[in-house]
Amino acid sequence: MYFNIFPRIVAEGQSTTIRVEPLYSHKKIKEEARYKLVHSPMETRGIGQGESFKRISSIQPKDGVFEFTLTFEGEQEHNIDILEVTGQEERVYCSFSVYSLKEDLYNLRPYKGDMHMHSHYSDGQESPAYVAAACRREGLDFMALTDHGQYKPSLEAQQAFENVEIDLKIYPGEEIHPPDNDVHMINFGGNFSVNELIEDQSETYFNEVEEIKEREKAPLSEEEQYKYASCKWCFDKIRQGGGLAIYCHPYWIHNRVYNVSIDLHNYIYEKQPYDAFELIGGFHIHEAESNHLQVTYYQEQRARGIQVPIVGVTDAHGCDNGQLFGWYYTIVFSQDLELPSLIKSIKDLKSVAVEALPGNPVRVYGPHRLVKYALFLIREVFPIHDELCREEGKLMLEFIAGNQDASRIMKSYKGRVARRMSKYWG
Ligand SMILES: [Zn+2]
Ligand SMILES: [Zn+2]
Repeated sequence: MYFNIFPRIVAEGQSTTIRVEPLYSHKKIKEEARYKLVHSPMETRGIGQGESFKRISSIQPKDGVFEFTLTFEGEQEHNIDILEVTGQEERVYCSFSVYSLKEDLYNLRPYKGDMHMHSHYSDGQESPAYVAAACRREGLDFMALTDHGQYKPSLEAQQAFENVEIDLKIYPGEEIHPPDNDVHMINFGGNFSVNELIEDQSETYFNEVEEIKEREKAPLSEEEQYKYASCKWCFDKIRQGGGLAIYCHPYWIHNRVYNVSIDLHNYIYEKQPYDAFELIGGFHIHEAESNHLQVTYYQEQRARGIQVPIVGVTDAHGCDNGQLFGWYYTIVFSQDLELPSLIKSIKDLKSVAVEALPGNPVRVYGPHRLVKYALFLIREVFPIHDELCREEGKLMLEFIAGNQDASRIMKSYKGRVARRMSKYWG
């Protein structure tokens, strides 16, 4: 809080100059003091006994600022301390950490998003525009509203902010409920409604699903063969519209049973007609077992060599009722925030699902390499990101409440989060 320290995310194995600039008088550099730099890579050790693994060098400020060049090896966090030595006394002047990444991950940026939420058009509380604004207030970079059986509300969220400059990406979406199929699916970003397609051309739907069922000959009951074929049909349609096909909450308990039978779930999971699995779904505290089961299932499948792309979502049914909204999200490591880039990254297994329950430590699920990096980002980078987003989200809420001044201020904020983030990456 007392310094500008950039960059914080660096390419591994390359010499990088870090700049530490004190912002306030209580951190002013003392003329009479000597300064030492202690570099402690978290995972790797040099040779030697005791604390000799620490790399200590002397460091001199120039014009009230420290600048030093180091090579950060491996993919890991590096703790850095600047010590101030006056006479016999040595004290910590500044502590921070830097994360070094291999090139593939260094070239991507992390984006936070939620792709499963409801508005008052289905069983949610607020208007689509309100949900979108609240997402920005919550620190998200992208979102999609996904009402039950309805695609149009998600377009309403987009249209509400059509003529103002915002950095939140609002994508279309819907939760798909085909006839006689209780497996839930999310269409994230697709450019047409699969629900409407089923309604408008129900004969074609039933015929094509029947064909898939005959071709597939899944080792399931008659009824579940239909459900599987129906899911496959929907997932294919989502992809045809350029969307991401998400398989939702199999361990949601509904009508006293899990939403999907274990036979059907095993079959869907392994056959992967979907693009991404809703690893962390929108479960209330009393439903925590459902997420727990989804996570252990996923881990066990990974151990068997079955990799599936994952997302974490809130499935929120209200932004201000203290339930679900903001509790879960996805971090996608992507080239940019455009839909094809996000989808490509998720399919490339470059995403993690985050659980951030109020009053609890954050938990991140996904490949270990990404989890480790995401934990650093959540601790060191996202708090500032989220703070900037919060201000924008509040303005978006004022704008839809009719405050015309808000759009002018929103314009001046345009690009602010990206500019700040680019400093972290140097
Ligand atoms: Zn659902
Ligand atoms: Zn839902």
